Amino acid sequence: MQDIKSLTITELSDKLAELGQPKYRASQVFRWLSRGARGFDDMSDLPKKLRDDLASAFSLTPPVMAQSRTSSDGTVKYLWKLADGETVESVVMEYKHGTTVCVSSQVGCRMGCKFCASTIGGLVRNLTAGEILDQVIFSGTEAQKQISSVVLMGIGEPLDNFDNVLRFLRIVSSPEGYNLGMRHITVSTCGNPESIDKLAGYNLQLTLTISLHAPDDETRSELMPVNRTSGVAAVMDAAKRYFDNTGRRVSLEYALIDGVNDGEEKANALAGLLRGAPYHVNLIRLNEVPERGLAPSGNGAVLKFTNALAARGVNFTIRRRLGLDIDAACGQLRRRSKDKESGTMPYFGLTDRGKVRRTNQDVFGAKTLPGVTLLAVCDGMGGASAGEVASALALKTFLESAETKLSNAVVTAADVSAEFSRAVHIAGNAVLEEASGNAEQAGMGTTLVAAGVIEDSGEVVACNIGDSRAYKSAPSGITKITRDHSVVGEMVERGALTPEQARRHPRRNLITKALGTLQDEEPDIFNVSLDPGEYLLLCSDGLTGTATDEEIWLTVKAASGCEEAANELMQMALRRGAPDNVTVLLFQRGEVSYNG
Ligand code: SF4
Repeated sequence: MQDIKSLTITELSDKLAELGQPKYRASQVFRWLSRGARGFDDMSDLPKKLRDDLASAFSLTPPVMAQSRTSSDGTVKYLWKLADGETVESVVMEYKHGTTVCVSSQVGCRMGCKFCASTIGGLVRNLTAGEILDQVIFSGTEAQKQISSVVLMGIGEPLDNFDNVLRFLRIVSSPEGYNLGMRHITVSTCGNPESIDKLAGYNLQLTLTISLHAPDDETRSELMPVNRTSGVAAVMDAAKRYFDNTGRRVSLEYALIDGVNDGEEKANALAGLLRGAPYHVNLIRLNEVPERGLAPSGNGAVLKFTNALAARGVNFTIRRRLGLDIDAACGQLRRRSKDKESGTMPYFGLTDRGKVRRTNQDVFGAKTLPGVTLLAVCDGMGGASAGEVASALALKTFLESAETKLSNAVVTAADVSAEFSRAVHIAGNAVLEEASGNAEQAGMGTTLVAAGVIEDSGEVVACNIGDSRAYKSAPSGITKITRDHSVVGEMVERGALTPEQARRHPRRNLITKALGTLQDEEPDIFNVSLDPGEYLLLCSDGLTGTATDEEIWLTVKAASGCEEAANELMQMALRRGAPDNVTVLLFQRGEVSYNG
């Protein structure tokens, strides 16, 4: 069946005329589609007969939001599940001038850029015009924002999917529909000269951005294999012709990569390349993709690079990196989801700053070692950025220390217990030391809950300090493994408060033990075991402050795997106002494949 959302208004009019409908019906249907109707029955001002005819003649398959991640800077990333089960990402970003959505144009990408996660699995397929449009519409709906500009800079090379992208541009800018002006649309390309010339031929008033990333062929070909066939000079010639044809100034993207393209000689070569031409250079420090082994430039290198550009009169902007804490680099969220599908990650975690806090001081991490999986959640505390520093430092130190000792041996529960005690001391002392050396960090601390799951036996060793918790969730019920080190937690244990009263108590955030407050703080250690199919949940009090143990259990029980359970728990906390940062990390014993 034909995808109705990929039709222009003219094509839709022709199709409806074939169904014997007057012209105004096409405008009605087109308007409904651009407003995000999820089915023909949503089109309430159409006669029932027409709705049925449309349903028989066309497909209308809006994407399902499979995941959302909100950054501490307000950036929101969505992972969309398409009708055939493939996934793509879009990112909603807030700027002073309005809300921008960055959308994908392909599932995967075949361009092979060395710094990009989108291309790791190659190109799967092109997106239809309707699937690109859906990302704009539903990102706006989910974020509850009026989208004021669109950037085609997500997964895929837009000009490698030329016809569908052109069709999308016509539909999204159509006055009868979404009505987004071309000047509010940016198409970003890795720079195939023939495709740039082809686009110039349409004389659209959009902004063209070319990913340059290096001024010389040797470096650019190393970073972007597409350069091997064209070369920098041909790309720059095409950019010049684009400007001559359309009158629109071309922007050049330049991601600063440590030791690769950030030297002063590269800045000087770039300035030479731009001499006399009306280009604007957008500099951005690389959004690191761990799988690609490239790192962002340091502040010193950025300063030298920009000083050299400024001295040569180059017109440039340094863009803020948004969404660093939510895998916002192109393709990272989809990649994580793919890892999950292939069974390489038997766990899944999410963290969100919640609806009230300005920053996210929660972190989580996991490591799969031979025979044992380590999981940990930390919830930092302290003013300014102190809580973030404390939780990140404690998590890193704890996991690295535990990994070193538990990597090379046949691991028993006793080994894990002993190592957790040691790693907690090391992590706590690292936080104390950091706080004592820096007046701004005084008073910082963090909770820590961690677990080691021994693969063969299903034995679990859990440890905690503070009020982040570990639970075991089985089909028959949920068991809280850890004991809260908090004022209200201790009152619950003495029978002075019920768990429900504790959740609403004004002193619920007062903890009695934290990493980084006393030397050699001792964790509590617990031993349980998981049967196949049972879940282990680690979470911060952002979840347990908004949901009861039973609600958590019912949610996990209804889910078809860790990812779905994590998403459902997170959405429950967010729907309830999430006054605190929320983190959930789930492990399911014996789970080897994604079935969401
Ligand atoms: S940067 Fe763009 S063109 Fe290059 S591989 Fe990634 S998605 Fe493709």
